[in-house]
Amino acid sequence: MFVQVILSVSHMDIDRVFDYSVPKELESFVKVGMRVRVPFGRGTASNEGYVVRIMESTDVPMDKIKYIESVPDDFPVFTETLLSLAQWMRQRYFATLSMCLKTIMPSGIKDRTDYYINVKYIRPTEKAAETAEVYSMDKRKQKRAEILRYILNIGDMPLSQLKKAVCGSEYAIKALRDEGCLEVYNKKLLAEPYCAALDEESADITLNTEQQAVMDIWDRERNALNRPVLIHGITGSGKTELYIRMIEKVIAEGKQAIVLVPEISLTPMMTGRFMRRFGSKAAVTHSRMNYRERFNCWKRAQEGEVSVVIGPRSALFMPFDRLGIVIIDEEHEKSYISETAPAYDAVETAEKLCAVTGASLVMGSATPSVKSMYRAKTGEICYASLDKRAKEGSAEPDIEITDMRRELEDGNRSMFSRALYKAVEKNLKSGRQTMLFINRRGYSTFVSCRSCGYVMKCGHCDVSYKYHAVNGKLVCHYCGENVDRPKICPVCGSKRIRYFGAGTQKVEEEIKKLFPSARVLRMDSDTVSGKNGYAEILGKFGKGEADILVGTQMIAKGHDFPNVTLVGVMAADMLLNTGEYDGAERTYQLITQVAGRAGRGSLPGKVIVQTYSPENPAIQAAAEGDRTKFYENEIEYRKQMGYPPCLDCARIEITGPDERAVIVCANEAAERLRSDEVDVLGPVPQYISKIKDEYRWQITAKGKSFEELKKSVSDMYFEKRQSFEAMGVYINPRII
Ligand code: ADP
Ligand code: ZN
Ligand code: ZN
Repeated sequence: MFVQVILSVSHMDIDRVFDYSVPKELESFVKVGMRVRVPFGRGTASNEGYVVRIMESTDVPMDKIKYIESVPDDFPVFTETLLSLAQWMRQRYFATLSMCLKTIMPSGIKDRTDYYINVKYIRPTEKAAETAEVYSMDKRKQKRAEILRYILNIGDMPLSQLKKAVCGSEYAIKALRDEGCLEVYNKKLLAEPYCAALDEESADITLNTEQQAVMDIWDRERNALNRPVLIHGITGSGKTELYIRMIEKVIAEGKQAIVLVPEISLTPMMTGRFMRRFGSKAAVTHSRMNYRERFNCWKRAQEGEVSVVIGPRSALFMPFDRLGIVIIDEEHEKSYISETAPAYDAVETAEKLCAVTGASLVMGSATPSVKSMYRAKTGEICYASLDKRAKEGSAEPDIEITDMRRELEDGNRSMFSRALYKAVEKNLKSGRQTMLFINRRGYSTFVSCRSCGYVMKCGHCDVSYKYHAVNGKLVCHYCGENVDRPKICPVCGSKRIRYFGAGTQKVEEEIKKLFPSARVLRMDSDTVSGKNGYAEILGKFGKGEADILVGTQMIAKGHDFPNVTLVGVMAADMLLNTGEYDGAERTYQLITQVAGRAGRGSLPGKVIVQTYSPENPAIQAAAEGDRTKFYENEIEYRKQMGYPPCLDCARIEITGPDERAVIVCANEAAERLRSDEVDVLGPVPQYISKIKDEYRWQITAKGKSFEELKKSVSDMYFEKRQSFEAMGVYINPRII
């Protein structure tokens, strides 16, 4: 028997299968998708590899072929479906197969402990005390007596615990095993089923007409074309309730479900709803869990003990064999795209997985990506919408735009417009809660000298320092470098140093100045550290221990605080000018998401959006709550400009510590790409042209068709990659 193996070493040169022979005694163990240890290259070094095929014969000459050395697990780490998904990812995301396999592989497999050694007493219990008595009379058998008494008291236990409790028990345990008193065996270790506290939510909700209509659309679609279904439903319209119903149906058919949510919304509140409905059939996985916990979730899925897994993008790779549905909540979230290679998009990858397995794909959002809306328009995906809040009495909030230029003209230099100030004041008086959103942490966005205009910048990155009032430091948010706050300008020596723009800290300070009696909580990556920081702050706010919560986008997601009646967006323009083609999309999404936090309970909600560009169509559409207008305008704009999703574009990032080498390579890559089929823009420096001493350039390529674009980019990438790397330059293509 022979096998084809992919080595775990990620290198272009060996990004292919290698044939190995399987020793007779391993033949019955080896299966497709298993890890193996194999010799590779000169010497005796052994490598990890993955079996992708089993064969009866090989073309490799018998004197050249090597044997696999060992098989570490007794189960495959990849299903055949996931292996083929990895092949697809390799093509789609310009990566080696081994990189894709490592992404799919369960985390924690390397030092997994899904079993531990347990000890139990196996003779009739009545006799144990007697036996212990007998032993205790024999001087040489004191240890055996001690062990028996201990085990009788406690029951089954891990061997390690027994050894710790009874010193020097090694020999005695062996003797007791030989005498047939004790059994030592592998006990499977499974994660404790997650149990959230029950709240008042009941399972006997009747779907309203809108929800039922969407349910019907989904049911029809999956029995017909089985296109992905996009649920465009406002916050609180009952999407989660629908997800649960769909899963119930799929489970009743004997199939399995994966629910992807952005990491940040994996709160006990959200996962609790699934756990309550599905009990021990469901499992949660997320990055704050340790490897063992995550591996256990994976293993329980493999063994069919759970049928529903809820987790971030990596949960897509659960080893289910009867996948029935994949649900992607908040499908527009950027966090579904991996930041590390392979830079896969979990939404796209889920679609591929569903196409391969025949599972249904459901994507939900209050603010779908422009791409999904475009695809819905062209009929590529199926569209369903929910326009009303599901809970009785809760209405959509009233959104008001305030023009910060007018405020300045009228002499108001504060960060709070008069409207927002009044609204906060009123809310405090009536005992209601307020959320204030600002898209930056820290105190000020930049620090500059009033005399000469010098802006304090990080030496390693092309970004200005942000001032953090808490420790009086200037901090670079890209590389973490921090320096003391300057007393005089390093260029001209002037003392007139000023702090411009605002971050969460400054908003917090302003509130304390303007409303001294208000209790304020701040939530950003500086205050949310550790496993529980996030839940703790939200918990406090939920219990009414604060009047105002100030935070970054962390507060924009799925929390349901009935007493929040006011939401302030401090600076709505911040995402407009990032140099990306999707600035308007992100602005619209953010305002709409944040606004969705107001008026979740029976009290009406109000949202105040502060901006310097009140005429901006994205901001206006968000304020008007006009869900179709924004998308129609934006798709029209993208069409005219030739931006995705109307035209397929590739973004090729070229980075390296030597700026000249980066430019040389960028030009070479651009030259290689340019053709009749592909338009090339650039190379140009990226919006942030240097991070951590690495220079960053980029090329944009537009193709007549997706396939042609992908082929050109792929050809260029595989041809140039190695010679660029030799010059210390890295190339990172992405089709956007
Ligand atoms: P979304 O996921 O769209 O934000 P949810 O599913 O969380 O919406 O629903 C919002 C609230 O409305 C929840 O408290 C939920 O229990 C409730 N809800 C959902 N569907 C119904 C329904 N058909 N009847 C009554 N309440 C509902
Ligand atoms: Zn100066
Ligand atoms: Zn820096």
